[in-house]
Amino acid sequence: MGIRRSEVGRREAFIVDMKEQLLLKEQTLQLRLNGQTDDERTLEMARREIENIHATQARIRKGVYGICTDCQEEISRGQLSASPYAERCYPCQNDFDRERKMQLTQAIQHGSQNGIM
Ligand SMILES: [Zn+2]
Repeated sequence: MGIRRSEVGRREAFIVDMKEQLLLKEQTLQLRLNGQTDDERTLEMARREIENIHATQARIRKGVYGICTDCQEEISRGQLSASPYAERCYPCQNDFDRERKMQLTQAIQHGSQNGIM
């Protein structure tokens, strides 16, 4: 029980830490966007990352940050450290990517049949 409690505490500390990191990152990206000194591709990447940050901040506010959206299991801190915007644990993300790739392939094949691509 005591171990479990301190584990929860560490997780909370990790999330508090992550909140600060996200805010800092968002501010840096906003500055870059406001500066408009980079090329369009870099700016687009910054915009997309800010969207990721906002989605992650919303998940923190809802108290579901670090919980896999598919299997509801806790995402490991190792994975969250490597990819702070992760919404899924590794196995679920793999399934998701595989499915999306399949859909994309089908869409491309479908599109080429209709002469769109
Ligand atoms: Zn999962």
